[in-house]
Amino acid sequence: MDKKLFVISGCSGVGKGTVINEFMKRNSDDFILSVSCTTRKPRPNEIDGVNYFFISKEEFEKNIKEDKFLEYAQFAENYYGTKKKYVQQKMKDGYNVILEIDTQGALQVKEKMQQAVLIFIAPPSFEELENRLRGRHTEDEVTIQKRLAQVKIELERSLKYDYTVINDNIERAVEEIESIVRENVAG
Ligand code: 5GP
Repeated sequence: MDKKLFVISGCSGVGKGTVINEFMKRNSDDFILSVSCTTRKPRPNEIDGVNYFFISKEEFEKNIKEDKFLEYAQFAENYYGTKKKYVQQKMKDGYNVILEIDTQGALQVKEKMQQAVLIFIAPPSFEELENRLRGRHTEDEVTIQKRLAQVKIELERSLKYDYTVINDNIERAVEEIESIVRENVAG
């Protein structure tokens, strides 16, 4: 059976990483999380080829010109993108592929591949998200305000997604994503 492409996005602070990691732990037999290319510098503990393929700006722009990306986006001076060839190869290897990418990239994917399934992970409420962002104590007020403005843009774009999963509880959210993907893989 043909392998499927799923795109998962979520706004900053929504716990998307935790939900996706838990999903992957349970479904690694036939699902693979795509590794993106980026021009940002690796953080401590990040490994080239595992977390991202860390490449130079020149190389990234060369790949854009040569139309090598399925999608790409730019944030804070850095590029992020998914290589077409990478996704095709993983599908050939027998995996359903999950892209954990932002909403701009997700909508580019949907335009090129209508059969891709877009899942948005949303907070239970805007207030709840604000509390989570503040609770992390990692960002200053200006950064938090910028993040919240960005969240509004992302929620707007999420209206074009196929599914929205509310992350009110990690276990429940993972189960809902599992049922969505299983239904689409079977169909
Ligand atoms: P970070 O720098 O924290 O790893 O990621 C920043 C943002 O880039 C996240 O919202 C993440 O979803 C997004 N991102 C990561 N890889 C890609 C990609 O290949 N394409 C797009 N469009 N966004 C990506």
